[in-house]
Amino acid sequence: MKPVMLDGTIVAKEIKENLKDRIAVLSERNITPCLATILVGDNPSSKTYVKMKGNACEKLGINSISIHLPAETNTEQLIRKIDELNSDPSVHGILLQHPVPDHIDERQAFEAISIEKDVDGVTSRGYGQTAFGFGNFPSCTPSAILKILNYYNLSIKGKHAVIVGRSPILGKPVSALLLNEDATVTTCHSQTENLQEILKTADIVVGAVGKPRFIKGEWLKEGAVVLDAGYNKGNIGDVDEESCLAVASAITPVPGGVGPVTIATLLEHTVLSAEK
Ligand code: NAP
Repeated sequence: MKPVMLDGTIVAKEIKENLKDRIAVLSERNITPCLATILVGDNPSSKTYVKMKGNACEKLGINSISIHLPAETNTEQLIRKIDELNSDPSVHGILLQHPVPDHIDERQAFEAISIEKDVDGVTSRGYGQTAFGFGNFPSCTPSAILKILNYYNLSIKGKHAVIVGRSPILGKPVSALLLNEDATVTTCHSQTENLQEILKTADIVVGAVGKPRFIKGEWLKEGAVVLDAGYNKGNIGDVDEESCLAVASAITPVPGGVGPVTIATLLEHTVLSAEK
């Protein structure tokens, strides 16, 4: 049977529609939600992501401040900029675009974001809250994956979810969110032995590996639900869509799957932060 295409654009549209009323209520209180994005250096993909986020804000009436720092910015200078945004009451969310240049201590910079404005769940406190099942802002991509599963009524409870990738912003928090929803979770990484055997037992597969078309259909169990968080050069996911279409019961396309829901979730978190 043909798999269900999990259309992220529909999910994102619904999230954004629901935000319109909330933004109008805030406007009556003279509050305009505001997201500040910081880009360090000139990574072309990062530039595109930051631009997409800014455009999405503008379309919905959310202010966006785009800060572009030169590649030679050091950790201290970056933290000073983050501190300025932390203490600016008109800014409700701060997003430091990953990756920053190698000479910057990215972890230290992420940790400088105040928890109230950590709309992408990048601080250790934000991650800890996500893992414990509370807090306002789980990382946006993991949160988007859960939203897609819920929108399409795909059951999580008791299912074996296999996540390929364990990054702090994606693999680890999505593992935590699925665990909190009563999935049985296996988190795989570059040192995992027998990855293909593990994937053969997965009811839910999350591709968060950062390698184009890495996960193959032959590795999957018949009827698996596949969520491709990957976004590689040329709009290519971490999942080999063609071979996976033959075995999956449902799959997110790239583009048009997890990506748009991630952006909508970022907007939602910014609005929620403004409401608070
Ligand atoms: P990352 O930080 O590079 O992490 C990649 C993970 O994959 C690491 O945990 C790594 O293991 C693991 N890995 C690498 N090679 C592997 C292998 N052969 N077998 C099993 N695991 C392997 O990447 P990321 O930031 O999490 O991003 C992952 C993907 O998601 C990328 O394609 C990125 O563009 C995409 N992404 C998309 C969105 C969106 O909005 N759609 C947002 C964020 C990221 P080790 O830990 O052992 O190194």
